[in-house]
Amino acid sequence: MNAVLINLLYIAASILFIFGIKMLGSADTARTGNRLSSVGMLLAVVATLLYLGLDWTMVIGGILLGGMIGAVAATRVKMTGMPELVALFNGFGGLASLLVAAAEYAKLRTSGVDHYLELLEAQSGVTVPAWFVLLAVGLTALVGGITFTGSLVAWGKLSGKLPGKPSLFPGQQFVNIALMVVAAVGVALMVAGGDSPLAFAAGLALVALSLILGVLITVPIGGGDMPVVIALLNSLSGVAAAMAGFIILNNVLVVAGCLVGASGLILTGIMCKAMNRSLGNVLFSGFGATAQAGGGVTGEMKASSVEDAYFVLEAAQSVVIIPGYGMAVAQAQHAVKELAGILEENGAEVRFAIHPVAGRMPGHMNVLLAEADVPYEQLQEMDQVNPVMPTVDVAIVIGANDVVNPAANDDPSSPIYGMPIINAHEAKTVYCLKRGKGAGFSGLENALFFGQNTRMLYGDAKATVSALVAEFGK
Ligand code: NDP
Repeated sequence: MNAVLINLLYIAASILFIFGIKMLGSADTARTGNRLSSVGMLLAVVATLLYLGLDWTMVIGGILLGGMIGAVAATRVKMTGMPELVALFNGFGGLASLLVAAAEYAKLRTSGVDHYLELLEAQSGVTVPAWFVLLAVGLTALVGGITFTGSLVAWGKLSGKLPGKPSLFPGQQFVNIALMVVAAVGVALMVAGGDSPLAFAAGLALVALSLILGVLITVPIGGGDMPVVIALLNSLSGVAAAMAGFIILNNVLVVAGCLVGASGLILTGIMCKAMNRSLGNVLFSGFGATAQAGGGVTGEMKASSVEDAYFVLEAAQSVVIIPGYGMAVAQAQHAVKELAGILEENGAEVRFAIHPVAGRMPGHMNVLLAEADVPYEQLQEMDQVNPVMPTVDVAIVIGANDVVNPAANDDPSSPIYGMPIINAHEAKTVYCLKRGKGAGFSGLENALFFGQNTRMLYGDAKATVSALVAEFGK
């Protein structure tokens, strides 16, 4: 009876997860989707607590400790720190799966393989062979370990605690492939060895290898390719959870893990497409390792004033606003929305051009602009906005840099050559709002800022946009 009830609750939770994720596809339904998924998670937790023989002190202790850490992290994090926090959470997902694998393997060794399988059958009502559990343990440890340390490196790169540039050493690919092969042998030894000392040693080595591999796979990736690796690590955290679900034969963990794994993989594909690169190219090429800070760009940036910009904007019939990471840093989205409204009232057609990798996490700009109630229909993707860019009177680039770098279009020696960008430089006049001469995430110089039709509006983006709004009010 207990097992039937648990599985029914798990099915309900899985359905809520699936609908919840589907609803995240549109800004209008995203909040409801999030709530549905939360209810699904509550059901899944309640169902899991119905398992007989649970150690309640561990469960309550875990909930209190994890809840406290999560609450402190969530309340302390600034909006600009969200991408790092997400990277860290991916990593903890991987670590949690690794710990499940370690705990189950310890149980298997102390109780013996046969007794462990009997316990598993009594708990889940399903009979599985020993090799199945051992394979799941090995793969969970491998994927969980890679996700954990890989995500820590990604967190370091995003937070600026580690250099954003790729770190390469001679023979890196060879070392990675060799370690992968040794890890596969480790999994095979675990499966074949059961609870023997050799299998135990192989398991320990596998954990160490997975942790090293996570670092070695992530450090060579940098610059503009970070969105791909973050989406991939997100997917791997789901794969590790699904594998952990196979160890303990927990249906909802398998379903939820597969959902995260699959959606993360789709996102990885979208990010690769946004960068116009294949996944293999991202993982193995060390993007940006040879990038020069100057990138051969020469000339002078022409500073302008808010007053001058006002006169140009006042006369503009069409305006494209291109937000980037700097808008997130400045938290300028509300002021930007106000400016867009004023320009529209003034008779201009206003569009927001959103690059898929703008900011520091997938969908970063969409989230910020949705928070400021910018209508979703006003947001346009590169394919929609680029064809009309030469007819646009003014492009306002707000804290964006890499996503509007024309080197991607016309400099074959640039490491970002081939990456699609928003062609801001094609607008009749371009205003670029940034604090100074700081480079973007990839560390490259940007010829847009030196263009004949470009004027720089130096200062914090929120202060500059607010000053423009005030100028219209005079
Ligand atoms: P960039 O990081 O290229 O540039 C941001 C610019 O904003 C900087 O040049 C900086 O110049 C300016 N800036 C910073 N703070 C402020 C402020 N308060 N006010 C005004 N300007 C400010 O941003 P993009 O959005 O163009 O590109 C995103 C980059 O991040 C890409 O390379 C992408 O690959 C990478 N990335 C994206 C992820 C994602 O998932 N979206 C994840 C990880 C990396 P200054 O210092 O002079 O002010």
